[in-house]
Amino acid sequence: MSAVHSIDTSTEQDLTDGFHLIIDALKLNGLNTIYGVPGIPITDFGRMAQAEGIRVLSFRHEQAAGYAASIAGYLTKKPGVCLTVSAPGFLNGLTALAHATTNCFPMILISGSSEREIVDLQQGDYEEMDQLAIAKPLCKAAFRVLHAQDIGIGLARAIRAAVSGRPGGVYLDLPAKLFGQVMNAEAGKKSLVKVIDAAPAQIPAPDSIKRALDVLKSAKKPLIILGKGAAYAQADEAVKALVETSGIPFLPMSMAKGLLPDTHPQCAGAARSTVLKDSDVVMLIGARLNWLLSHGKGKAWGDAPKKFIQIDIEPKEMDSNVEIVAPVVGDIGSCVAALLDGMGKSWTKASADWTGAVTKKRDENVAKMAPKLMNNNSPMDYHGALGVLRTIIAERPDAMLVNEGANTLDLARGIVDMYKPRKRIDVGTWGIMGIGMGYCIAAAVETGKPVLAIEGDSAFGFSGMEVETICRYNLPVCIVVFNNDGIYRGTDVNPTGGPDVAPTVFVKGSRYDMMMQAFGGVGVNATSPDELKRAVNEAMDSGKPTLINAVIDPAAGSESGRIGNLNPQSVLSKKK
Ligand code: ADP
Ligand code: MG
Repeated sequence: MSAVHSIDTSTEQDLTDGFHLIIDALKLNGLNTIYGVPGIPITDFGRMAQAEGIRVLSFRHEQAAGYAASIAGYLTKKPGVCLTVSAPGFLNGLTALAHATTNCFPMILISGSSEREIVDLQQGDYEEMDQLAIAKPLCKAAFRVLHAQDIGIGLARAIRAAVSGRPGGVYLDLPAKLFGQVMNAEAGKKSLVKVIDAAPAQIPAPDSIKRALDVLKSAKKPLIILGKGAAYAQADEAVKALVETSGIPFLPMSMAKGLLPDTHPQCAGAARSTVLKDSDVVMLIGARLNWLLSHGKGKAWGDAPKKFIQIDIEPKEMDSNVEIVAPVVGDIGSCVAALLDGMGKSWTKASADWTGAVTKKRDENVAKMAPKLMNNNSPMDYHGALGVLRTIIAERPDAMLVNEGANTLDLARGIVDMYKPRKRIDVGTWGIMGIGMGYCIAAAVETGKPVLAIEGDSAFGFSGMEVETICRYNLPVCIVVFNNDGIYRGTDVNPTGGPDVAPTVFVKGSRYDMMMQAFGGVGVNATSPDELKRAVNEAMDSGKPTLINAVIDPAAGSESGRIGNLNPQSVLSKKK
């Protein structure tokens, strides 16, 4: 308990204040890292938090700090904390809060705000904005604390809302006046709450387990889909046991890659279209039937009738896109344990006909890809560059992998195998650009492991200034920018012949590596897979902040990577 040891002359009592109560409440609940950007009214708060032993990491933009907090939540199952100033800083952080909520990551955005009395009368205060009202629809819960004695309860509510049930983003509004409010230190200490069992186990109903096992038993061609909810749950051993006891092929969603190794004999990652089409029973574990799974219907899923079993902590998720014949509601650890229990020792494994067909398809696809990954072309194509990075991750399975871009994302996801849970962090449910540097920083800080970021040149640009942050904290981050001179490709031309380049084109021959050098980090220009390999290995060995400008053929990419079909088409424009 940190108290302000000033003396109240009338009563001679020890006093504390809002600043110190917030710090004490965070520490009491094990929230020891803050990602943020200083400014009015939270500058001194950041200083005091650092002085009290909280790690305070200052970013160059709130959005990157917010993304860092969101992924810290995913990696640790504790809410990641982002701290911003009022109005514009709050709005910059809000994108990340909405992102955390959409991705089911626990996060708390704490923003300072201006004078309530003036804001509510709309009298034009400094950075005036009704932040609470604006945050509400974009997060799981939003709270404002007006009195110092409510700080403990306010933070407890925020923590519970963020991590219990389906995790998500929480907004905590702290008006400037609150920080300076003074109260008796002893009463202040008593007002704090250490949250007990913030995310209680949610045990599934026995009936739901029996129903799911009956459906599974009837399957001829079963499939398990593992989502990032399963990775988040940290029930790694139970999930592995379920997959192996059942003998069912599994398909990992992007961030679930590595929950079981991509090289596991039952992994159907390289036979994705086949298993989606041909399976008859699909068990979803912490994965939603959203756009990333074509909503569970249509061409990708083939014509054969399908039955879905879904394990999720959120009851409302069931039947969101198609009928779920066996909903299992609960936390993944408890649900998977109950399923395993019900399966017992004599469970009949998935038929060899089915698993053999899946393995055959997978091995064919892997063999088809292999030679492409070994080329040493200069400038590089995606396969040559990613072939090298694939080997590096195989040799360093503990490294964290951050990935964003269009082609750079889609191809890296398919090519780079993962071996351990929660090592791959990427654009997530929205497929957003801009998470890159925030994710790198949080991954390094929260795991202490080296980080490799595979970044499209456009994606990198959204948070590129944070390379200074990476250098400032001397983090073991190696960023590889796949530089193909533009968005999707660098080859578009302006059809009018006017002076502006096409909207998707960047400066040709740019040298992102020099940005890193500007802040004392290592910058390397790599023009071939051999050069790339050498530079990345050096960076991973040294742990020095490094940026490698990987020169990719500007003609190598395709429009929007694998999701070009989502672009609306004009009937008037001639097809290219
Ligand atoms: P992916 O994009 O990998 O398919 P999604 O984000 O779509 O993953 O789905 C994750 C799902 O996991 C969400 O529906 C969420 O409610 C669920 N989830 C998150 N944590 C848990 C947990 N501890 N137990 C059960 N379900 C969880
Ligand atoms: Mg590009």
